[in-house]
Amino acid sequence: MANSTQGDGGLPTAELWASHNSMVMEPLDSNDPEVHSIIKKEKQRQRLGLELIASENFASRAVLEALGSCMNNKYSEGYPGQRYYGGTEFVDELERLCQKRALQAYRLDPQKWGVNVQPYSGSPANFPVYTALGDPHGRIMGLDLPDGGHLTHGFMTEKKKISATSVFFESMPYKVNPKTGYIDYDRLEENARLFHPKLIIAGVSCYSRNLDYARMRKIADANSAYLMADMAHISGLVAAGVVPSPFDHCDVVSTTTHKTLRGCRAGMIFYRKGTRSVDPKTGKETLYNLESLINQAVFPGLQGGPHNHAIAGVAVALRQAMTPEFRAYQQQVVANCKALSAALMELGYDIVTGSSNLLILLDLRSRGTDGGRAERVLELCSIACNKNTCPGDISALRPSGLRFGTPALTSRGFRQDDFHMVARYIHRGIELTLRVQKDMSPKATLKEFKEKLEEEKYQKELKALKEEVEAFAATFPLPGLPVL
Ligand SMILES: *Cc1c(COP(=O)(O)O)cnc(C)c1O
Repeated sequence: MANSTQGDGGLPTAELWASHNSMVMEPLDSNDPEVHSIIKKEKQRQRLGLELIASENFASRAVLEALGSCMNNKYSEGYPGQRYYGGTEFVDELERLCQKRALQAYRLDPQKWGVNVQPYSGSPANFPVYTALGDPHGRIMGLDLPDGGHLTHGFMTEKKKISATSVFFESMPYKVNPKTGYIDYDRLEENARLFHPKLIIAGVSCYSRNLDYARMRKIADANSAYLMADMAHISGLVAAGVVPSPFDHCDVVSTTTHKTLRGCRAGMIFYRKGTRSVDPKTGKETLYNLESLINQAVFPGLQGGPHNHAIAGVAVALRQAMTPEFRAYQQQVVANCKALSAALMELGYDIVTGSSNLLILLDLRSRGTDGGRAERVLELCSIACNKNTCPGDISALRPSGLRFGTPALTSRGFRQDDFHMVARYIHRGIELTLRVQKDMSPKATLKEFKEKLEEEKYQKELKALKEEVEAFAATFPLPGLPVL
């Protein structure tokens, strides 16, 4: 094959070269029908499903246009004004604009705060903070994963260090009170006094209440530790001012940009500048030195060239985040979450602690089922959510809860009444889960449960509910690009 298409000296023939030149200009549908059709199917899945995974959202058309732009092509290792490549005048302009908007969106004084907009995502925004602030094996305290924290906050089990944070740093988790579901700040304080962390992380992936940043600041100060907030889930709510701001109390704030902030997938790190502390006796000032430490940790420490197309998408999202429309959206996210929570409680479900933000944790223990089984049934009915451990769960292998978030469907225009409908669909899915379980041995495994769902009578029921769910979801618009 190769030979027949090669001309003299191994160079391409004129015909092959002409074909190459048209290949790079061809639209996706004719150039790669296989990938095109997968994307079409995914779009249809997104349109017809009820998306309740708390970390997901639908980016706006403008964000996706910026993301799919020629900014993808440009290498620009370094920072605006100090790059290792030429041709960077427009990516410099873009990155500076993105930085400016990031500070504005969170109402931050550029004298007191700086921001790095280069992290590729949320996890790559956290690790450079740890390497910048601590030495190898420096001590970190974050909320334990089964209690609602994130993997990157140092997760490990009795048997194994799972997150690189726990491998390269010494991690000691803090936890929620297993009875109330609220973070046990008293124990955090006690343990911090023994462990002497260099860094305390205030951040959650599955916790439906606001964090007490002021209390955590005091605990950090008592141990001369830095306080970092990871506001990945709530960054849109913070920008809109509908939940307390971590910026009032923290030294560093990291975030993703694709959850409630509704941008493309990326991350940001905000760091304080100026005075860190003043000695009350001598009046001597200590300054922050976070700017160079964090910037160097991101590049060249851990990353290479920034994703300029993502920075473009984030800049667009940040501009939207400063509008009254965005504030209205975030207020609706919280109102919808309360509506979903209330509707489920009315149907007799337990909601861990209730909710002040974008997500709820449904505890299925009193219903006699668990997250894994219910998640599978709901998935088969086009309702997307995820199983999650509940406070006091004995085994992380059989989580008893389901996590539901309202950001994605709120982007599709859902309001409280629509979430009452959503609650009823969830209820019907869980009722079906219980009926299937009753039809089997109480000792049946999750795998056996999933096999049981293959039976014809259950397939019929699942299909009927799925059709109703999809007909309902299809009536709402889906933000994004017109075609894909
Ligand atoms: C989602 C999340 C992250 C990680 O973000 P990725 O983009 O998935 O790497 C980090 N921290 C918290 C608290 C999160 O919820």
